[in-house]
Amino acid sequence: MESETPSTSHVDNQASYDDIIENTETPQEVVVQPPEVVSMKGSGSRLPLRVEKALKLKSKPLRQCKKCQEWGHHDSRNCDKFKEKEKRQSRRNSKV
Ligand SMILES: [Zn+2]
Repeated sequence: MESETPSTSHVDNQASYDDIIENTETPQEVVVQPPEVVSMKGSGSRLPLRVEKALKLKSKPLRQCKKCQEWGHHDSRNCDKFKEKEKRQSRRNSKV
């Protein structure tokens, strides 16, 4: 009956081995990180150009034009009244 002992022990060993494997196969902790929230800072393409321009004008501070003394978004260089004068003058000059 001595030969039976090793075989049983062998089976017992295998069983325990399987047990160990099953126990060691614990699910690894997978840390699921939340997706990064992409900021939509540069995406202004949804707005039509008109609205974009209006918003830009609104965000700009008003300037007082030194040519016409009007508060607006133009400079003394870009002053419409000044330009008109220049045009007239240039026309006169070109005519003469
Ligand atoms: Zn002006």
